[in-house]
Amino acid sequence: MDRIKPAVAGARAAFNLGKTRPLKFRIQQLKALETMLTEKQDQFSEALHKDLHKNKFAVEVYEMLGILSEITLAIDKLPEWMAPEHVAKNILTLMDNVYIHREPLGVVLILGAWNYPLALVLHPLVGAIAAGNAAVLKPSEVSGNTAQLLADLLPQYLDKDLYPVITGGPEEATELLKHPFDHILYTGSAAIGRIVMEAAAKHLTPVTLELGGKSPCYIDKDCNLDICCRRIAWGRYTNCGQTCIAPDYVLCDKSIQDEVVKRISSTITEFYGSNPQTSPDYGRIINQRHFRRIMSLLEGVNVACGGQNDEEDLYIAPTVVTDVDPDSKIMQEEIFGPVLPIVTVSTADEAIAFINKRDKPLALYVFSHKKELVKKMIVETSSGGITANDCLIHYSVPALPFGGVGKSGFGSYHGKYSFEVFSHRRACVLRSLSMEKMNSMRYAPSTDSKLEWIKLLLKRRGGGKKWWFIGIVALGVLLSIVMRHFLMW
Ligand code: NAD
Repeated sequence: MDRIKPAVAGARAAFNLGKTRPLKFRIQQLKALETMLTEKQDQFSEALHKDLHKNKFAVEVYEMLGILSEITLAIDKLPEWMAPEHVAKNILTLMDNVYIHREPLGVVLILGAWNYPLALVLHPLVGAIAAGNAAVLKPSEVSGNTAQLLADLLPQYLDKDLYPVITGGPEEATELLKHPFDHILYTGSAAIGRIVMEAAAKHLTPVTLELGGKSPCYIDKDCNLDICCRRIAWGRYTNCGQTCIAPDYVLCDKSIQDEVVKRISSTITEFYGSNPQTSPDYGRIINQRHFRRIMSLLEGVNVACGGQNDEEDLYIAPTVVTDVDPDSKIMQEEIFGPVLPIVTVSTADEAIAFINKRDKPLALYVFSHKKELVKKMIVETSSGGITANDCLIHYSVPALPFGGVGKSGFGSYHGKYSFEVFSHRRACVLRSLSMEKMNSMRYAPSTDSKLEWIKLLLKRRGGGKKWWFIGIVALGVLLSIVMRHFLMW
């Protein structure tokens, strides 16, 4: 615990030196991060295998590549992102320099979750560095091997003072949260999200909460079930179901339920063989507590495929359960494991009503050939993100903001949004001390004619009066040019 105070103070002191402000420094740190990931890939793979049974493919595709492509994007775009953004002027500021300057927030805190333990800490870190902040990182203690490796390696590559890594669990997190940060980005459950937000409120610290929830997946009756079930199986069983945007449950017509089970079941065999426990591509539940939690969700439900388990090995087979009662335990909490319940509905409208009766999910999936149905789903429901005819994919598009809505969180990051979330948009108006006469109408003593002029210049006009307004603006420009050149104020 003694290490927390000096680490936070050290980050603050280093930030105050102004080290992070130059573009060159930010790019150099981003490159150092890239070097760490490429040079130490084997060590990260080993740690992630110990934590979650991830193989080399899973580490590269689901942890490393996302971070590396964010780094490349940030390095490429940073000069553009950091440049002043000139904005539309009003008539009072026509002669001024009016723009948005993005400045770093200061010292930010990044609290990561265990399911993608590297990505969920380093992905936001890319944004924090790009935006010129110092960042204190607290990886999840639940994935302890990756957390420790990060704590060992990061200071060897990045500035030691600006980006300290604090290992530990709730106790360390609680201690950290007593410090006044300039922003907190938290990834994890809603329950802890509330604690984080409460602690942040004491310092009026803004937060981004990347939470989870039950992400629905609606399958239209007339869909190509073969392709649809392969994509759903991929989304559900990757990382042993421990993905925040995995499809949590299926909604479909009863007439296709058996076919959905049959095709998901054959896809499971295709992906992981007849015994997924022996497949190098199939993950494990993170720990015994989560193993028991997931197994308890299977009590009293109708297991249509899978269900095999081995507590010692933290193995739960890819599982589908059918004819699920919407009020059953499995439908009350996010499953976060390799179990896919199917709830039957008769129509798309019923599916929409079902979704809208519950908390707004982090992701929503709809499988259908009908464009109108997909549009209807988008318009009539709400979720953090939505992908039609596939799963998880919206996460991989850096131009899309990634984040929740309602109970699935608020704020977003990825790509430029990561830079934005850790930047303050400072409003800048730069004017000269000349042309003081132009300001006379705003000064006392007030008169009716001054008021009329101000109203004339500032009133928003639209429709038929547009040309009248343009005329006034043109007159204003002309006047100010004349004044500047001939009156020498
Ligand atoms: P977790 O247990 O790893 O906790 C997350 C972080 O909170 C950790 O760093 C942990 O140390 C910290 N923490 C624990 N107790 C704390 C306390 N009392 N005060 C402050 N911090 C504390 O992760 P979890 O909560 O099991 O995460 C799973 C949830 O996260 C799921 O709901 C999942 O959907 C969600 N998730 C969301 C995203 C996303 O990007 N939106 C990504 C991954 C996971």
